[in-house]
Amino acid sequence: MKAGDEVVLHFGDQQIDATVVIASTNQDSIALAFDGIFGGYVGVMPLLRQDGVYRDLMHHQAANIGIRCPHCQRISWNPHDVDERYCGGCHVFFTEDNY
Ligand SMILES: [Zn+2]
Repeated sequence: MKAGDEVVLHFGDQQIDATVVIASTNQDSIALAFDGIFGGYVGVMPLLRQDGVYRDLMHHQAANIGIRCPHCQRISWNPHDVDERYCGGCHVFFTEDNY
């Protein structure tokens, strides 16, 4: 993930569209921006990854990050798909060109 990437954030029993605003090069610390209040955060949720799981800073609660395919709207929660920005349904990588 990098700043500007569109993602889907699942936290608790809720889900929201979000945008990556900060991502460390090792991907262990990221911040996601969204509209309104979500999971007790206003506008931005900072997440830290430990043992492969992202957790929020306030509650240390697990969060899942997915991507929605711009073509078929399928959401993938597979970390490899998220890293590669790949849709297993369309078998395409999202690029600046085909977005
Ligand atoms: Zn697709």
